Amino acid sequence: MKCRHCNTELEHVFVDLINCPPSNSMLKEDQLNEPETYFPLKIFTCHNCFLVQVDEVKNAEEIFDSEYTYFSSFSKSWLEHAKKYVDMMVDRFGFNEDSQVIEIASNDGYLLQYFKEHGVPVLGVDPTANTAAAAKEKGIETIVDFFGSKLAKEKLSDKNIKGDLILGNNVLAHVPDINDFVKGMKIALKDKGVITMEFPHLLRLIEEDQFDTIYHEHFSYLSFTTVKKIFENQGLEMFDVQEIPTHGGSLRIFAKHDYDQSKEISKNVSLLLEKEEKAGIKTLEYYNNFQSRVDKIKYSVWEFLIKAKKEGKKVIGYGAAAKGNTLLNYCGVRGNDLIEFVVDASPHKQNKYLPASHILVKDLDSISEFKPDYVIILPWNLKKEIGAQLNYIKDWGGEFVTFIPDLNIF
Ligand SMILES: [Zn+2]
Repeated sequence: MKCRHCNTELEHVFVDLINCPPSNSMLKEDQLNEPETYFPLKIFTCHNCFLVQVDEVKNAEEIFDSEYTYFSSFSKSWLEHAKKYVDMMVDRFGFNEDSQVIEIASNDGYLLQYFKEHGVPVLGVDPTANTAAAAKEKGIETIVDFFGSKLAKEKLSDKNIKGDLILGNNVLAHVPDINDFVKGMKIALKDKGVITMEFPHLLRLIEEDQFDTIYHEHFSYLSFTTVKKIFENQGLEMFDVQEIPTHGGSLRIFAKHDYDQSKEISKNVSLLLEKEEKAGIKTLEYYNNFQSRVDKIKYSVWEFLIKAKKEGKKVIGYGAAAKGNTLLNYCGVRGNDLIEFVVDASPHKQNKYLPASHILVKDLDSISEFKPDYVIILPWNLKKEIGAQLNYIKDWGGEFVTFIPDLNIF
């Protein structure tokens, strides 16, 4: 396996989570008797460019098929995040009815709808047919395809569509060919256009043992240092960066054409590069010992679940998403003897089963019917929002549990 960015032969294992099905491959009841496909989940660090990456090259179409059930609009805090971003961008760059905003991985139009409210023309690109259909219902035109240099040329630039803003949240880390993806943005960007991308920050993943953010669909684990290099290679320059709290700690990068002199380079750029260098992001030692820290979390999950079982406590999970699946699968939780069921707000996930563990997903009303002693918040990054929303479990003495970075019962 060679590095997806610089083609160096990969030699250094960052962490090996053994194997599991793609995290979004939820099962319907009649699929429970069918065999499931497991893929290795091993992550390497490139010793040349320090891109941390999944070793398995999977056909992306197989994962992001039309059954893919993540609808961004079902998360309230994510919608608020999107709205705040749009207001900030309109304010800072003055986008208006003469501008063109292009969002890559636009999902169900959860974000573009706010640009539309400002009267800014929008266009989405998303490979998933059913979320794109939901976007179209909101009046948001969406190209149903994977973004890359080919799409950028044939479906955008050749048709005189170029972005004053090209944005993508949680997509840069999810593309198998990151070089071609960035090349595509270069092609589809106006001369004075702006690119913003948000993705989980590798520094936070490592420092807070966030191993459950690792899954097959998440190909790259990115530091600012490495992303800057990947963009520079395609003639794009970083002019600002923000550290934001989403997904347990993300970066929002701002890029422009390298020849565009109209924008000042913020000091945030050099400050974050220094911070990463000081942490050791350009040394292999920094990536060592992650496996043993992950295993420590695995043992604490086991201890908690077995103790709760012995004490006759009722345990359920909240959040049928990738994070939970990585955690449950790496910890080898199978069947519903330790975790009765998982609840999720999205009707697209309810009455389906989690891959590998085969735990049933129910609706939120099931919580007050079942009255669990413990609700494990699998997307721990949303524990404040979820804890407030489900505060009624305190009525019967219920408690919340998170495992990362340490066991926390509250
Ligand atoms: Zn590399």
